[in-house]
Amino acid sequence: MYDPLVHPFPDHHQPDPDSYWLKVGNEVPADDGPLAGDLSVDVAIIGGGYTGLSAALALARDHGIKATVLEARSSAWGCSGRNGSFARISGGRVPWSSLVKTYGPDTARAYFHELRQGLDTVRDLIATGGIACDKQPDGVYKVATFGTHANALRREEKLYNDILGYPARYVDAGGLHGVHEGPESHGALYLPDGFSLNPLELARGLHRMARSHGARIHINSPVTGWMREGNTHRLVTPTGIVRAKRVIVATNGYTSSRLHTRLAARVLPVHSQIIVTAPMSHAQVEASLPSGKCMFDTRELLFYYRRLPDNRMLFGGRSAISGNDAAAPRHRQYLYSAMTRKFPALAGIAVEHWWGGWVAVTRNSLPFCYQVPGMGEVFTAGGYAGSGVSFSIHLGTKIALMAAGRPFETGAAFLTREPERYPFASFIRLGQWMAYRWLHAKDAREARRAG
Ligand SMILES: Cc1cc2nc3c(=O)[nH]c(=O)nc-3n(C[C@H](O)[C@H](O)[C@H](O)COP(=O)(O)OP(=O)(O)OC[C@H]3O[C@@H](n4cnc5c(N)ncnc54)[C@H](O)[C@@H]3O)c2cc1C
Repeated sequence: MYDPLVHPFPDHHQPDPDSYWLKVGNEVPADDGPLAGDLSVDVAIIGGGYTGLSAALALARDHGIKATVLEARSSAWGCSGRNGSFARISGGRVPWSSLVKTYGPDTARAYFHELRQGLDTVRDLIATGGIACDKQPDGVYKVATFGTHANALRREEKLYNDILGYPARYVDAGGLHGVHEGPESHGALYLPDGFSLNPLELARGLHRMARSHGARIHINSPVTGWMREGNTHRLVTPTGIVRAKRVIVATNGYTSSRLHTRLAARVLPVHSQIIVTAPMSHAQVEASLPSGKCMFDTRELLFYYRRLPDNRMLFGGRSAISGNDAAAPRHRQYLYSAMTRKFPALAGIAVEHWWGGWVAVTRNSLPFCYQVPGMGEVFTAGGYAGSGVSFSIHLGTKIALMAAGRPFETGAAFLTREPERYPFASFIRLGQWMAYRWLHAKDAREARRAG
């Protein structure tokens, strides 16, 4: 499996994921094929996920710039076509209490505002573009796995209400009946905004919109070499060369360490995996997840899950560390055990899909959107830490703004800073392995305390 810390780019031998979204997807949109020959362009975009596609759309629609997207495999082949499908007010992985402490309430509010705008951007694109992506009604539950977590959720409710001015609401365990059943239902924080959808169809919708406004999208066109010729960037692919005045890098968690030295080790690619079961019976639905809303739990290494419209359970989490190891059956079993522990009524249910992908985590666990220092007109956005369905699309429009020569004005200034490199990059995975052990131990201790 493609591993950004090992391979130079996702090549054509890399298979498509065994994803439910590919199975239920509609027609693959038309594209511009692999790049052929030499091309001189104003703006080239490397990577055709939400960030790259929304940047291409915004450049063409709002700034009159018809960008050229170079995608290594096919549109949304990375995270954007294979994610857990929750579009939420989220980006990065920093708890709000830590954000307030580190940056102060004003910056936290500004960031929350930016994230909210992100969700509105997605709503708006779905509506104006007529994107048929099976958008579900709003509502997100953060569910207390252990009784001991309920108080933390009450504190979080207060922070949302008092500092962020947002009507999050605590729901006690009794209030979860008919919503979320099973032994790990100890209360929840309810967030009224956020919805699930078909993520691949969302990306395909962006792809179609970007092309209809004049963007070119070249698939099977990995950037394998990058040189500077004065102020021009020479991007080499196996079948052609693009010379671009400006470049947007939208490779996020799929960024190979070898794409460019300046970009190396700015994000850690972290593997997230999903299983999708066979359709549940009516009794299984009633005993597990009667609600179709977005759910995630309060473990340190959290699980996210939802009931799909055809009554299958989608259940995701993190366990594998390297691409080599990701296909080991124990990771599928890890998710299955977690799912049946949460929902015993699902014991024995068949798993029909199992896949994974690379999310991008920065050292401060926050996203970025900046002009790369020392590289001329090169811009990049990413680092959503597994919470990027809405925010990647939002930052795609912001990075387009910057590439069009206009400033991205935000009260959350940290977004526009270059993320620090991970030190000791060659030991990075050892550190991650140790972190997972520690987080598992914390979860196990909490489970013991809860009895
Ligand atoms: C299993 C999983 C579950 C997730 N669940 C959720 C969720 O429920 N909610 C949520 O908000 N977020 C979720 N995410 C994260 C979310 O999907 C991402 O944050 C978002 O899709 C990022 O989009 P992107 O365009 O920045 O990156 P990607 O979609 O990963 O796109 C990067 C693209 O760059 C291409 N590329 C890489 N190298 C090159 C090269 N050299 N040349 C050309 N192209 C190249 C890749 O092929 C890829 O298509 C999940 C991610 C995963 C993997």
